[in-house]
Amino acid sequence: MWLCVAGSRARGPVHRLSSSRAAILGFLYSAQQRKSSRTRLSLGINHGAPHRETMALRRRGTRPGYLYNDSRSHRPPQPPGTAERRGMPQFGYAGKILTVDLSTGKTATLPTTDYAAYLGGRGTAARLHWENTPGEASAFDERNTLVFSIGPLAGIPVLGGSRWVASGKSPMRDPEHLCHSNLGGRWGAELKFCGYDAVMIHGTSERPVYLLLRDEAAELRDASAFSGMGAVETRAALKSVLGDSARVVAIGPAGEKMVSTASLMADNDASGSAGLGAVMGSKQLKAVAVQSSSKKVSIAQPDRLRDIIKYYRSLGKGVFTAWGSDFMVSGPQARKDPCYGCLGNCLRVIYTASDGRKGKFMCQSGLFYLQWAMRFYGEQNEVPFHANRLCDDYGLDTWSLEAMIAWLYRCYRAGLITDEATGLPLSRIGSMEFIEELVAAISYRRGFGDVLAQGVERAAGALGGQAVDLIRHIDPYEPRLYNTTALLWAMEPREPIQELHEVGLPLAQWSSWAKSIDGAYVDSEVMQRIAERFWGSREAADFTTFEGKALAAKLIQDRQYAKECLIVCDWIFPVMEIKNSEDHVGDSTLESQILSAVTGREVDEQELNGMGERVFNLQRAIMVRDGHRGREDDRIPEEWHSAPLKRGAMDPECLVPGPSGEVTSRIGAVVDREEFEAAKDEYYRIRGWDVATGLQRVDALCHLGLEDVARHLQEKGLAVST
Ligand code: SF4
Repeated sequence: MWLCVAGSRARGPVHRLSSSRAAILGFLYSAQQRKSSRTRLSLGINHGAPHRETMALRRRGTRPGYLYNDSRSHRPPQPPGTAERRGMPQFGYAGKILTVDLSTGKTATLPTTDYAAYLGGRGTAARLHWENTPGEASAFDERNTLVFSIGPLAGIPVLGGSRWVASGKSPMRDPEHLCHSNLGGRWGAELKFCGYDAVMIHGTSERPVYLLLRDEAAELRDASAFSGMGAVETRAALKSVLGDSARVVAIGPAGEKMVSTASLMADNDASGSAGLGAVMGSKQLKAVAVQSSSKKVSIAQPDRLRDIIKYYRSLGKGVFTAWGSDFMVSGPQARKDPCYGCLGNCLRVIYTASDGRKGKFMCQSGLFYLQWAMRFYGEQNEVPFHANRLCDDYGLDTWSLEAMIAWLYRCYRAGLITDEATGLPLSRIGSMEFIEELVAAISYRRGFGDVLAQGVERAAGALGGQAVDLIRHIDPYEPRLYNTTALLWAMEPREPIQELHEVGLPLAQWSSWAKSIDGAYVDSEVMQRIAERFWGSREAADFTTFEGKALAAKLIQDRQYAKECLIVCDWIFPVMEIKNSEDHVGDSTLESQILSAVTGREVDEQELNGMGERVFNLQRAIMVRDGHRGREDDRIPEEWHSAPLKRGAMDPECLVPGPSGEVTSRIGAVVDREEFEAAKDEYYRIRGWDVATGLQRVDALCHLGLEDVARHLQEKGLAVST
């Protein structure tokens, strides 16, 4: 067996490799909630002097100059225009949204054009949630809506455009909030082929069912025979009934038992977190299968799209070095397993274990339980793979479970819990026996597993005392290290991984440069140029101050929300840096170019990001409607304010660029409370929100085309009028 894990393929001085590896292993003890560690491609166009390829693409466009839009002016987002009110062009979209009421068994359709201002993906899902889920409904309330949504690029062999989103009020957080999960694989493309842009499921079935979409026909079928089955097993069983071409998303026992961190498992082992497997379980919905006889999606300008893709491919891509390491599981037992229509030059692989079992093994799933298993089985072992497969089949989120194992370990070491009291072999954390017993106990809510099934925070609350203090919030992109992320964390109900990647991944490459890793080209000057282009100012690249961070946070959020509406892959977009150019600064216009080519309606970068801003504000409105108190709740974990940073999860030296780009360490740093509050003031001002309360202003919401949302909040005293 050759199982290559983080660090083993990195180049550079030996001591650098050691420190990187040590950092990764340290991270594994306590990492929390992040589902993947994707990196981005290098692609781009020199904005100072347009690249010659860019010029060629422009010449081929339907309108001169469509490729280049200067977003540095930060033009305010445009409200939905006439075209949007009429609906986006039919190209790209299937045209219909399916609604399914599990309580009555009735189905209906909505025209996608009614949701055109929200683009797709997270945007469509958020709007459907706003309209159909009352604020007071809990995650397990039958009125909670579970939405599976794709974007206009799904089903088109384009760059990572067939991802999809699952969304609904989640039990994962206390208080409960709308959460989402972003999945790859082939399920999303097949939904488009069936003729739908989204499926909205509400109500609760009286018995276990699965939903089958065969082309446009929708049918609820009895799923009693699959009850208690694993998610992977259910997928296989349904395929044996429906045929291998069916694409299936299913839940395992953890979802059926409504474990707060239960996940979804779809074709190609695409997994979805945010506790939405529990929502599916609460509805007695075991699976959704989609199967189409046709594989067509209409594209407005196929030649233009081909040119863009060709240009992109010509730049080449691969796994780059982050913090001096890569995260590729490679070797003869690993083979690429790309999502529908994607180049797949990323970490996505299927691994075949010595016993013949196969499954996805990449990013966080490739690291899950590794550090623990090494205590028992040495450096080379397949236990992490089997542990990961166990979680996939039971339908448990490995990110959340990693954090739980670390917390259990601390509690055990502190003498707060024992093997006898919990019925779990805590003294053998790292063994296969332990992970098997833990996963089963949580998934079936057996004994102490029932306490753990509520998630770490509620479980710690149940134990009380020191158990609460032993919770740690460790993340490779945490704000004591990368302070821009403080605002990103504060505004979201879950770890905003796409937003964190926009900050952390360029810095991970910069870190490789700071550590003198061969081939690293994102130096401090490049970081400042990237900051100017993508984050609004060069000051945003100085991570010793909050200067420029409020604007940076706003720009990052708008762009990332737009990205998750399209939906394009976090691995590829945004293209922030490129190797083969003079200034190495990437291109932020590619997403809008692709959208324009697919739909035939010219959308520039600013308009696209304006759509992201609209969706971000809609999500904020939903959160406020559902109980978020604005400024008071825009918080980060207390330990980030009070406990000095000891080491980075990935970079033990905690290196960042300083005021003039000098290499600076953040060891010892905390997020200063006053500076953070001042950054919030600035952020609220930039957003057009009320600075004192952090609530949205009516005029700002109307400006974004959210008049009905503004009215609703205003009537409830949740938006500020003057
Ligand atoms: S880059 Fe990888 S993860 Fe992203 S869509 Fe393509 S195959 Fe899937």
